[in-house]
Amino acid sequence: MTPEGERDAVVLIEGEHIVAVKSASEVSGETHVEDLGEFALIPGLVDVHTHLNEPGRTEWEGFATGTRAAAAGGFTTVIDMPLNCLPETTNVEALELKREAARGKAMVDYALWGGAVDGNQHELEPLAIAGAAGFKCFLIYPGCDGFREIDRANLELAVPHIARTGLPLLVHSELGGPVDAAVARLNASGADWRSYATYLASRPDEAELEAIAMLLDLCRAHRFRLHIVHLSTAKALPMIRAARKEGLPVTVETCPHYLHCAAEKIPDGATLFKCAPPIRSAENREQLWQALLDGTIDLIATDHSPCPPAMKRLSATSPGEEAGRFDEAWGGIPSLSTALPVLWTECVARTIPLAKLVGWVSSKPAKMAGLSAHVGAIAPGMHANLVAFDINATFTLAPAHLHYRHPISPYVGETLRGVVRSTWLRGERVYENQNGAVTFADTPRGREYALSCSLSR
Ligand SMILES: [Zn+2]
Repeated sequence: MTPEGERDAVVLIEGEHIVAVKSASEVSGETHVEDLGEFALIPGLVDVHTHLNEPGRTEWEGFATGTRAAAAGGFTTVIDMPLNCLPETTNVEALELKREAARGKAMVDYALWGGAVDGNQHELEPLAIAGAAGFKCFLIYPGCDGFREIDRANLELAVPHIARTGLPLLVHSELGGPVDAAVARLNASGADWRSYATYLASRPDEAELEAIAMLLDLCRAHRFRLHIVHLSTAKALPMIRAARKEGLPVTVETCPHYLHCAAEKIPDGATLFKCAPPIRSAENREQLWQALLDGTIDLIATDHSPCPPAMKRLSATSPGEEAGRFDEAWGGIPSLSTALPVLWTECVARTIPLAKLVGWVSSKPAKMAGLSAHVGAIAPGMHANLVAFDINATFTLAPAHLHYRHPISPYVGETLRGVVRSTWLRGERVYENQNGAVTFADTPRGREYALSCSLSR
């Protein structure tokens, strides 16, 4: 799968790089050739939204386990979020601590997002110079006290600095007001928190819509690169289309769970499906697919967000506790090992070609993260990050397929299409699945993309 499309070809690798893409007749007899038969060879996937939680919460995940899961899922580059680790990545010192923690553990390559929180606006340019790929902020309480939502006044102080770096600001785009009001209403009426309908009603579309409208205003005033993470509501699409027409520098991601699941099908108590913003209706899901196809949504990211199973409250963790309550369960769906087959299953059902999917999960995320000179395409000069993808094989997802620290997933038991047979990182095979017998590289050789940026005036 090259940027020009799909064809029979030989990809020539020297050391860590792709040096040429040729037809078989052009390859000399001395070249060592591995024939992949009918498998598709696609560029390694790039995930711009990964929570690895290290240092500080390695009992949740970690560089070693998370990047193994990534390799098995066809991802060769992941970009780690600045929260749920300790300390949070909100200054250069914390960035260096994370680098230290990651060293020698990663099975695939990575980059690191910095965080924008109340009062750290003077840390942002130093973070950019030190090699952070960009910045993440929340507009609503993220669930952990160490990294809080930024308020409007502090956001106004932060964005001029971010604009100077030329790096993107990734925003969790929900505002607290509509959520607080909905929760108060639900509690006053004695709502059942084991019901998914209650959880969905507690995170209304308006929370996303008000946040995105506010962000587009800020983007218009300060011309920073705005990236809306994990868009869930299709009601925001007209606003985003208008912003694009106006020429605002805005990009948008959505996630596999919003493209695969539907609120109507989520059983009560099934907190493995809890994430924020929430999975909405089947009709909403179809509009998200349309928006990917028409380019309103640029890319797909996993939002791989793991936690210890007990935090999902699937069973009572103490006497008298009610299991399966959506208000008490941790929000987040781990998906590094499942994203590609989940998405390919949906693409096949909609006759969407593989080339489109590769754009959404590899080339477009590489571009958003500023890495497209190195990753996201099978072309001469690029890192030889490759995935042999068996597009016809189907399998029933079991915990053994997951590879991250805690093998839980809402998709266990589902029949999915598409199997990652091999993943190569910079020319070396790091994962192989031969009819179910799985091997990983002995030595983790993933390294960081730390691209120091220069500031504009
Ligand atoms: Zn996230």
